[in-house]
Amino acid sequence: MASLETRIQNVVGDRTAAVLEKSFGITTVNELLRHYPRRYEVRGELTDISKLLADDEVTILAQIDRVSLRRANGKNILEVVVTDGSANLSLTFFNQAWREKDLKAGRVGLFAGKVGVFKGKRQLAHPDYQLIPDGDDVDAAVAEFAGKYLPVYPASAKLPSWKVMQCMKLVTDSLDEIPDYLPEQITKKYKYPDLKHAFINIHQPKDLLDAQIATERLTFDEALLLQLLLGQRRAEIVKLNTKNRTPNTPVLVKAFEERLPFKYTQGQQLVNQEIEKDLANKYPMHRLLQGEVGSGKTVVALRAMLSVVDSGGQAALLAPTEVLAQQHFRTIKKLLGELAEAGTLQGGVIGTSVELLTGSLTSAAKKEIHAKLASGQTGIVIGTHALISDGVSFADLGLVVVDEQHRFGVEQRDALRMKAKEPPHLLVMTATPIPRTVAMTVFGDLDISTLRELPGGRTPIQTHLIPVKEKPHYLDRAWQRVKEEVAKGHQVYIVAPRIINPDKKLTEREILAAQLLGEEYLDNEPMTAVEELAPQLATGALKGLTVAVLHGRQSSDEKDQTMAAFANGQIQVLVATTVIEVGVDVPNASMMVIMDAERFGVSQLHQLRGRVGRGSVPGLCLLVTSADEGTQTMERLNAVAATLDGFELARIDLEQRKEGDVLGSSQSGGKSHLRLLRVLRDEDLIEKARTDALALLEVDATLKNQPQLLAEVNKLKEQESSAFMDKS
Ligand code: ADP
Ligand code: MG
Repeated sequence: MASLETRIQNVVGDRTAAVLEKSFGITTVNELLRHYPRRYEVRGELTDISKLLADDEVTILAQIDRVSLRRANGKNILEVVVTDGSANLSLTFFNQAWREKDLKAGRVGLFAGKVGVFKGKRQLAHPDYQLIPDGDDVDAAVAEFAGKYLPVYPASAKLPSWKVMQCMKLVTDSLDEIPDYLPEQITKKYKYPDLKHAFINIHQPKDLLDAQIATERLTFDEALLLQLLLGQRRAEIVKLNTKNRTPNTPVLVKAFEERLPFKYTQGQQLVNQEIEKDLANKYPMHRLLQGEVGSGKTVVALRAMLSVVDSGGQAALLAPTEVLAQQHFRTIKKLLGELAEAGTLQGGVIGTSVELLTGSLTSAAKKEIHAKLASGQTGIVIGTHALISDGVSFADLGLVVVDEQHRFGVEQRDALRMKAKEPPHLLVMTATPIPRTVAMTVFGDLDISTLRELPGGRTPIQTHLIPVKEKPHYLDRAWQRVKEEVAKGHQVYIVAPRIINPDKKLTEREILAAQLLGEEYLDNEPMTAVEELAPQLATGALKGLTVAVLHGRQSSDEKDQTMAAFANGQIQVLVATTVIEVGVDVPNASMMVIMDAERFGVSQLHQLRGRVGRGSVPGLCLLVTSADEGTQTMERLNAVAATLDGFELARIDLEQRKEGDVLGSSQSGGKSHLRLLRVLRDEDLIEKARTDALALLEVDATLKNQPQLLAEVNKLKEQESSAFMDKS
């Protein structure tokens, strides 16, 4: 008899075991049982052949319609036409005439291969196949197949779906009683089968309801383990000891608030209180602050940093790009005024020193800042990855603020936290709205604050599509509109996916390098490029306007100068790549034209257009696209034009991403413990699992009374420790 830990070769033999390991990394019975079917074919119901797409790897159930053998180019060609009753598909075999005796008209079988197109007809060349036993000989059928429902597995060339099915049969037939890690009260509550029956019912269902319930139970398992892991992780944070960072006399905070030219929104007030409470705890804050671009996150974060400085500590703000770090620096210096000038002649009695640390500083300048951080003279430092480098140490780092979390890995975040003596408080800011289920899973160990309203006085951005294929003259009108906007004294961004189109095909390495500079480079096709478009406009459609370019291949000095010139109105039109995507804030910019809009993701477009309409002038965004009407791409762009609801757009974005992207790439990997769970589809299950997990941990925080459950959680922890929490 086999247990879950039994090596697979003891059940299926050495040769098959070797193929299982090579194809899917499967080495144990447990791993094989967790190789779940993609779907089920129903015996007697043939696969709809008309739905097959070219290039898909398919496994279909079909009936042989006719067979013919001919000779061409010195080869025997056996052509077998299979049918689902209406559509046909042809299978071809070269020099395998002997197969004719098996492949008789009328027989039904499973056929697997890659759909190709030959002379306009779809076909499978050299498919693998397994004929279903003839007639009503049910016993023979059952001997070879599970039953009426034939599971279709992820397969490999060496291991077609039905071979997996046969292995599964061997395993389930020899499976001993297996212990179930799921607490009985939970299986009872949801009327779930026990683990062994869940495995049997997902692989050899008697009916589809059985399969569905088994799938649900196994999916729930994954959600529950994940929630237990996150719950424990939270508990570990709470156990950490850190300094209380509530100032006795919040002088800086008070002086800052007196300087603020506006009142906090209600949302900001609420978040300020949440953060204040967090900072008063003995364990470090772990908070995610989400809010649309312009919702006032930076102001909230700055207030938190000042509290920490008031209590004698230091705060660091980590930004993903140099442009953004520089901008934060400028914004913060402006908001603080003389409060940021401690130690200089401009400084007043109250104040701190604020520094910018980026990679492009000279090493002398860096050293100077390093010294001020180590001595504690500098209260607030803003920077890029340079903050994480070896030379940096802090006198007393109390708070780490990370801006635009999706660009940072957990490792980088942690590297900065390692520079603190006690675990520092952590505030992560993101402008990408995070749907609820993603918040509960991917960010489940963070508390979440949301700024929903934008500070008053803003008019919403209008977004329109310019389909250049159908209406090329719309583009001329767009440039006309740019001129009008500038005539009104406003400024305009034009965003293009490329810096320059190369005159040769790029290598993979070069493409990667370009992507790192913020260019869209999925392929070698030419696209609108900043360095080509800008001169073209400056001498053509936008003649007479001040046009400048901004992109990742410029030196940071150049970028900084351009941004500063744009910010104070010297530049009217800025042609840029997505370097301007994050956080850039010029209230006088009222219009954006995005070229080749189909090259950008939904959330990215939403982020980009958030750059305009930040002042009191209405914002306008034009999406220029050569996508065809009626395509999915066009639908996507229409969705962006139709709504300003970031949560809705994040959802659309998520739906279009491939499986596995959300919970980390490890999800699609061979041995992942998260195989079935999908954050969007399984919202209800995740919700239930969260409630159950919290209830379990409430009575038994360490799970000491549930050793099997704990063992499963630990397996997940081991496997996911590096991979899935890392959302950058
Ligand atoms: P975010 O970081 O979320 O993009 P910011 O904190 O940079 O938003 O704020 C965007 C703009 O709105 C800034 O110019 C900021 O000074 C301003 N702002 C922030 N809070 C308020 C408020 N309560 N009332 C008016 N303006 C505000
Ligand atoms: Mg910001």
